[in-house]
Amino acid sequence: MDKKIPIKKKILNKNDELAADIRRLLNAKKIVALNLVSSPGSGKTSLLEKTLAAMNDKLNMALMAGDVQTENDARRLMQAGGRIVRPIVTGGACHLDANMVTKALDEMDLDGVEVLFIENVGNLVCPSSFDLGEDMKVVLISTTEGDDKPLKYPSMFRRSSAMIVNKTDLLEYSDFDIERVKKNAWSINVDLKILELSCRTGEGLEAWYAWLVDMVKRKKQRG
Ligand code: MG
Ligand code: ZN
Repeated sequence: MDKKIPIKKKILNKNDELAADIRRLLNAKKIVALNLVSSPGSGKTSLLEKTLAAMNDKLNMALMAGDVQTENDARRLMQAGGRIVRPIVTGGACHLDANMVTKALDEMDLDGVEVLFIENVGNLVCPSSFDLGEDMKVVLISTTEGDDKPLKYPSMFRRSSAMIVNKTDLLEYSDFDIERVKKNAWSINVDLKILELSCRTGEGLEAWYAWLVDMVKRKKQRG
């Protein structure tokens, strides 16, 4: 019947159906879902640790930590105070898919949850193709990477709604140009919201927290 549909297309169609189910579930529960994507080492787990430490009493947060191997990141998030933390070990796959997220959600108590963070596998390529039912993708880039990453991985920056530039405390030690990375990112995606912060010094984190709180408020107001 659908012999002519290439296998990759079929996988993505199936993924999109599952993602739509996830989105319906999370919307019904008014949960803001953020899919965090980046290269390995940009600071996704660190940002979530900081967010838990600062906001655990103000926001009801659930977290999924995807990794190719080990549950180390999930353990870090639990140690940082995460009450609902679910590791997803992909066992080799370099991205999360909607099926993995569906299974993880089945085992999570979502009552009262306001924000779901999905920490994707560190990879700027294929996670861009897999909808996980999130409200938005948030792409992290750190100042120890090249400021041309948005140009090298345009699909990821096009499909993200926000970009976080992390490790701003290291700017003076690198050739990374913050104005150039913004220009590059906006040349791919004019609507991209950009936040600059340092998980190490805490600079810029307040704006990130305020943005989260605002998103939660707006989602609850939506009918
Ligand atoms: Mg991590
Ligand atoms: Zn992959």
